[in-house]
Amino acid sequence: MTRDDILKIVLESPSLPTLPVVACKLLSISSNEKTGMKEIADMVSKDVSLSAKVLKTANSAFYNLPHKVSTIHQAASRLGINTIRSMLLSFSFLSIRAKDKNDTFNYEKFWEQSLANAVAAKLIITEIVKSDWEEIFVSGLLENIGELIIALSFPQEYEQVLSEASGSDKDIIELEQQIIGADHAFIGYEVAKNWNFPDILLTPIHYHHCPENYKGDDKKLKVIVNVVYLSDLLTNILYSNKPLEYHQKFRNESEAILGFDDTIIDRILEHVTSEIRKTADVFGFHIENQKSIEQILQEANAALSIINLTCDQTNRKLVDALVQLQRLTKDLEEKNNRLDKLAQLDSLTEVYNHGYFQGYLENEISLSARKGTTLSLILADVDDFKIFNDKYGHQTGDFILKELCKVIRQSLRSHDIIARYGGEEFAIILVETTGKDAQSVAEKLRQSIALHNFIYKDKNYHVTICCGIAEIRPAVDPFTKNDLIDFADKALFESKKKGRNCVTLYTQRNK
Ligand code: GH3
Ligand code: MG
Ligand code: MG
Repeated sequence: MTRDDILKIVLESPSLPTLPVVACKLLSISSNEKTGMKEIADMVSKDVSLSAKVLKTANSAFYNLPHKVSTIHQAASRLGINTIRSMLLSFSFLSIRAKDKNDTFNYEKFWEQSLANAVAAKLIITEIVKSDWEEIFVSGLLENIGELIIALSFPQEYEQVLSEASGSDKDIIELEQQIIGADHAFIGYEVAKNWNFPDILLTPIHYHHCPENYKGDDKKLKVIVNVVYLSDLLTNILYSNKPLEYHQKFRNESEAILGFDDTIIDRILEHVTSEIRKTADVFGFHIENQKSIEQILQEANAALSIINLTCDQTNRKLVDALVQLQRLTKDLEEKNNRLDKLAQLDSLTEVYNHGYFQGYLENEISLSARKGTTLSLILADVDDFKIFNDKYGHQTGDFILKELCKVIRQSLRSHDIIARYGGEEFAIILVETTGKDAQSVAEKLRQSIALHNFIYKDKNYHVTICCGIAEIRPAVDPFTKNDLIDFADKALFESKKKGRNCVTLYTQRNK
């Protein structure tokens, strides 16, 4: 039989799904924002259950609208014609189900994988263009529509294709051509043409296994064909039984075709399963236990490394043990990182501790020496804290210290650090900052602490701080880190002498 004979059988087959009415109408409505939008909104408004679905989806986190919409016309005007059309087409196709009970084709599985294709295509395209190419979602959703059609028209042969595909190196297209006589890209394309699909859906169906064969000069279509091809590779990592091969192919092809680097590829791989889950929720699909790509690859690698062992049971146990071991190693690394971080922090206030402060200051002084910049140090000390403790108790005092650090941290730039110098005294390192500027920072900190309501167990407390500031220009100044600390301390002492709740910048006078 020739390909055309096969196509004839498919088109005349009673199993060929009928195009849903909504999809049919949508495909004939023009893309013109004004007239098209009105026609779509009118059509949806007449269908109560579809209206409800559209409103629920438009208001879901998926579209992230700033205000809730309550009518179809509102949803259409907020989301734009392409988004609404894509949403409706997706609903409409995802509703294609078995015609009779004897149908053995697993529609749920097929549409789940198609939805994954759609999500993957959208994730990939957002790495290339900023504007929203909503149409790509439907292109991804329908790229494998030919598989559904072939499976329904030639159920036995298709079964054979699937079973041979799992055991051989041949790809599905090759096996379909060999066993059925035509592949799903060709059949899908021809049937979709018969359904009057626009080019933006037809072309990716046709070329999603061989994007290089698309010779047209429409740049947007070319991008869509490439992205849909890559989305197919990506979802095969999740759904085929050759995840490692598809993973490698997806990486290589993404780099070769779209110039993606490892960071972009890793970002896509990391987010794809959670995005699929979220989108499935929106479209009312329940996806069970979808493993992350990382987990799938980990298990596949483990299985590969012991592939030569023969006993099945041992195999399974070894895979599990290896996976467990890899997981434990990762956990251990994470715990070690957390421990390293904890060793740098003060346990009460969670700011850096004295040891870290000393090392950091040393480092920053060397850096400033190389760059020829000025660095400033503020020492801040709580006033009359002994009296405070005696009056309100040590626990209240502890709370004050914790809260005080939070207030200070909020006022600092991300590259400034605060450390607990000791007791109720804190050190703040301001890089690339002169003493004069540091004095203004300290003055702001002093004011914000003095005005802050420290509320502990429903009672309001107030404290004040004194600050001492010193600057160093390591490229020219003859003094050292310890001198800098000493100068800041002298300035702090000066503040205390002046009556507390004030700031002092170190000058020769403070000597
Ligand atoms: P000054 O204004 O001169 O700094 O007076 P001061 O009372 O704050 O200074 P002093 O050095 O005499 O006393 C420091 C007090 O800070 C005594 C000590 O109990 C208290 N303190 C130090 N660390 C902690 C802590 O972790 N928690 C609590 N609650 N108090 C602390
Ligand atoms: Mg004090
Ligand atoms: Mg003190």
